[in-house]
Amino acid sequence: MSPETAKAPLGIFGGTFDPVHFGHLRLAEEAADVLGLRRVRWIPAGQPALRDLPRVGPRQRLDMARLAIAGNPRFELDPAEAGAPGPSYTVPTLERLRRPEVCGAEMPLVLLLGIDAFAGLAGWHRWERLFDLAHVAVAHRPGYPVDPGHLRPDLAAAFRQRFCEDHGELAGAPAGRVTVFAMTPLDISATRIRSLLQNGESPRYLMPESVIAHIHQHRLYTEN
Ligand code: ATP
Repeated sequence: MSPETAKAPLGIFGGTFDPVHFGHLRLAEEAADVLGLRRVRWIPAGQPALRDLPRVGPRQRLDMARLAIAGNPRFELDPAEAGAPGPSYTVPTLERLRRPEVCGAEMPLVLLLGIDAFAGLAGWHRWERLFDLAHVAVAHRPGYPVDPGHLRPDLAAAFRQRFCEDHGELAGAPAGRVTVFAMTPLDISATRIRSLLQNGESPRYLMPESVIAHIHQHRLYTEN
């Protein structure tokens, strides 16, 4: 491993992925390039803590994520949350990754979030602890403002205090910084895809063909 790669951060990408789509895939791919990540670890949530139950169970969402990322050598899948009972919380997940036999204390970790997810961060369980465990990189998303003035005051304060413009700084510490990156704007959401499928309309070109085939094969998202 070259010294460059040895310091390159690992991206952590959690989500419900109900189902996974090209917005997720481009976010992870562009983050890897723009932030200089060694890899991106995808972690589908079992039962997300702060939202309604997903339409499809964790096993199916994990299978769809596996199909979606297949063949990309920079992506890896972490099945731990999807296989665990009870709600998924990000802080315990990061604490698990920090164990010596997983990533250890020194490797820079970068939690990847769309701006909509970041805006809700201050509602997460033990959210301030996140910054002891990882950096946070926030992707632009069509329809959501990129402006700390829209954030809850305590989150806006954390953002201002931790903000770094230079993505290269992420490799210099294991955790604690917040950065923002612009990705190809893709106005794609899992909500919209679920609605298309429920109405018998096509989700083609919004998500990988392999995932669409899986959805049809297992008759997912068609029932009320
Ligand atoms: P839903 O419509 O069910 O809320 P979603 O499309 O937002 O789902 P999630 O699985 O909730 O997908 O998102 C996982 C992560 O990916 C979140 O951090 C979210 O902000 C980000 N994300 C999802 N879609 C996009 C997109 N089109 N552009 C940028 N970020 C996105």
